Amino acid sequence: MIKVNNISKRYGEQLALDDVSFSIARGEIVGLLGPNGAGKSTLMKIITCFIPPTEGEVTVCGHSIFDEPREVCRRIGYLPEHNPLYTEMYIPEFLQFIAGTYGLRNSKQRVDEMIALTGLEPELGKRIGALSKGYRQRVGLAQAMIHDPEVLILDEPTTGLDPNQLEEIRKVIRNVGKTKVVLLSTHIMQEVEAMCSRAIIINHGKIVADNSADELKSLELSGNRYVVEFDREVDIEKLRKISGVAQVHHQTGHTYAIHGKGSDDLREKIFHWAVAQGHTVLTIQKEQESLERIFQQLTN
Ligand code: ADP
Repeated sequence: MIKVNNISKRYGEQLALDDVSFSIARGEIVGLLGPNGAGKSTLMKIITCFIPPTEGEVTVCGHSIFDEPREVCRRIGYLPEHNPLYTEMYIPEFLQFIAGTYGLRNSKQRVDEMIALTGLEPELGKRIGALSKGYRQRVGLAQAMIHDPEVLILDEPTTGLDPNQLEEIRKVIRNVGKTKVVLLSTHIMQEVEAMCSRAIIINHGKIVADNSADELKSLELSGNRYVVEFDREVDIEKLRKISGVAQVHHQTGHTYAIHGKGSDDLREKIFHWAVAQGHTVLTIQKEQESLERIFQQLTN
C-alpha cells in the first residue's frame, strides 16, 4: 500500500532523510519512532505530497507521488503535527466544509459517522477554538478520515492529550487500523507498545530498526538486565567476561547493572561467578529491557 524507495531529502546543506526505504501493507499500524529532528515529519510530508524528496520515489496504493499526486491525496488522510483547524467554525460546519473539498456526495452522513467514531458528540455546541487539545485532535482525526482514505498518516496524534483522552484516541486508531494502513509518528516508545504492530525507528534521517514490537523486545541488545548488589566492590572487567554478558555499569555503592545479550537467564552464572571470586551476592534482580531502553540504545 505504501512503498518508500530510497528517499533522501536535503534542506540546503542539511540532510534530513538519508536513503530511507520500507513498505507497509494493509492492516498494519506502523509507528515511526525517533527523537526530535530525526526526520519523521519530513518523511510524512513527502508521502502526503506536501514536499518533494530530493531523491527516491514513493507510491501509495500503486500511485506515484510525482506522477499522480491527486490520486495519492485522495487515498490518504493526514493529521499534520500542528493540526490546523478553523477555530471560528463549529465541528459539523468544519467537517462539512472538508467533505465539500473532497466533493463527497454523502457528506452529511459521513460527517455524522465521523462525529460518532471519534466521540465528538458532547462538544458539538462549541466552536473549535473553544475545544480542549484532546477534542481538537479528535476533530483532526475526523477530518483526516472523512473521505474514507485507505491510508492514514498521523503526525504525533496523541501529543498533549491527558491519560483518558489518550486511551480514547488510541482506541479509535486501533479500530481504524484494522482495515487501513496507518503510519503514525511519535517519540514515545509506549505509543508503539499500545497501538502498533511494527516500529520503524529513525535517527538522523536513517532507519536504524524496522521490526515488529515483539521482535524489538527479543533483539540481542534487548536481553535482560540484572541489578546485582555484592558485599564489596568488584572488578567490572571480570564481570564483563562472564559468558552472555554484554555490558556492565557501576550504579551506586556495590551495586552493578549487568546487561545480558540474549534471552538466557544469567542469574545462576552471576551467582557462581561471585562464589568463585569469594564475593557474596546480597541481592540480584532481573528486569526485562523495556522498549524505551532499546530505543535509547538504538538512537544514541
Ligand atoms: P522530526 O519530525 O523527526 O522532529 P523533522 O522532519 O521535522 O524531524 O526535521 C528533520 C531535520 O530537518 C531537522 O534537523 C530539522 O531542523 C530539519 N528541517 C525540517 N524542516 C526544515 C525546513 N523547512 N528547512 C530546513 N530544515 C528543516
